[in-house]
Amino acid sequence: MTILPIVVTGEPVLHHVAQPVTAFDAQLHTLVDDMFETMYEAPGVGLAAPQIGLDARLFVYGWTDDEGIEHKGVAANPELWITPLPLDELDDDDDAEGCLSVPGLRFPTRRATQAILKAQDENGEPYEVQAEGWLARIFQHEYDHLDGILYVDRLEDPHAYAARKIIRKQKWGRPGLSWTPGVDDVEA
Ligand code: ZN
Repeated sequence: MTILPIVVTGEPVLHHVAQPVTAFDAQLHTLVDDMFETMYEAPGVGLAAPQIGLDARLFVYGWTDDEGIEHKGVAANPELWITPLPLDELDDDDDAEGCLSVPGLRFPTRRATQAILKAQDENGEPYEVQAEGWLARIFQHEYDHLDGILYVDRLEDPHAYAARKIIRKQKWGRPGLSWTPGVDDVEA
């Protein structure tokens, strides 16, 4: 298995609608294994194909809940249904989201509390997962990646302003930047 470089905001593939997955072959299985390894090494709870520079509607996720149960899966060509966004005030901790393509940052992000994910697994088999809370958040974050949306695009002020400022200061927001988990240090 291989740990893959993760592209940083500004890379065009992160900001476009991705193309459907059409081949559920050995190459895809290898890719999925590499994406899991990269995600765990980062560490992250989800990784979308555009984040490793691939124009494909594919993400992997793996998150262990408070009861120690790991929710793990491969989502190709997903569809996502969500409940209306809550209108209450965002919590600096409970709503704090991060992204491996905007490394080291976290900002409160408004998300639906419940979601239904319909997708195909690595063999093309369709499945459905009902999620709430953090898992629903992961699905919304990863699904957004396939539509070229980063969580920083969804931030509200003052967080939107703060994120733009840091991205500018880091000289991100241009093509050609990436980091490799386990190789490059990223300050959290
Ligand atoms: Zn992300």
